[in-house]
Amino acid sequence: MNADLEPLIELQTLDLRINELSDQQRKIPAHLEAAEVPLREAKTKLDQAKKSLDVSLKERRDRERDLEVQEAQVEKFRARLAELKTNKEYQAALFEIEMANKRKRDIEDGILTLMETVEKWQAQVKDGERLLQETEGAFQAKKQELDVTQTSLTTELAQLGEHQKAKMVGISKGLLDRYRKLKAGKKDLALVPVRNGICSGCRLQLPPQLVAEVKRGDALQSCSYCQRILFYEGDPGAQTGPAAESPSLAATGKSSD
Ligand SMILES: [Zn+2]
Repeated sequence: MNADLEPLIELQTLDLRINELSDQQRKIPAHLEAAEVPLREAKTKLDQAKKSLDVSLKERRDRERDLEVQEAQVEKFRARLAELKTNKEYQAALFEIEMANKRKRDIEDGILTLMETVEKWQAQVKDGERLLQETEGAFQAKKQELDVTQTSLTTELAQLGEHQKAKMVGISKGLLDRYRKLKAGKKDLALVPVRNGICSGCRLQLPPQLVAEVKRGDALQSCSYCQRILFYEGDPGAQTGPAAESPSLAATGKSSD
């Protein structure tokens, strides 16, 4: 293999790993946000249950006041009974009392219904509080896990950055520029192996002469079609023999990807 190739291939491996880890790091905020969704939902649900409970409690208090007013009314009618002179007045007053009692019973029925509603919302609030506690716990666990991932990614990326810098020292500026330009242009690999006479970057069949030159490794060779730098993926430094010259596609069932 050409002496320039090995550090460049190692640099590419480092760069790929750095990209991969940076990608993972970029996705952390989205993961955190997704983990927060059930928590927000639980909060909203609990808030709604609390509001509904407040509304039904207020309604119950209002009806209880109505009941007091109605009870006072009945008492007032009763107190007046003794003062009444005629039978007609007495009958009329009894009718009033009966009507007032009926209104009182209606209010009492309403209060009973409201008490059931209050109980229902109290149960919902209790369930909501339990759910909130559970989702809060799950969210905190996930957050902690993501924090740990974040820290280890930061550490690993810093280390890889150091290796990357060290690796670049051994590569000529011209070659580095060529590598960077290719990497930026192709959005993936700048160096690719030749497999079965095919450039694994663009998957096109290379001229046999070029394949032979890549195998020999005297100078860096580029793919005639995609311009990626080519290397021979065999034993490093292996010399081209007559057997290797003849392209035997069946020999390597390996599919290039
Ligand atoms: Zn190519």
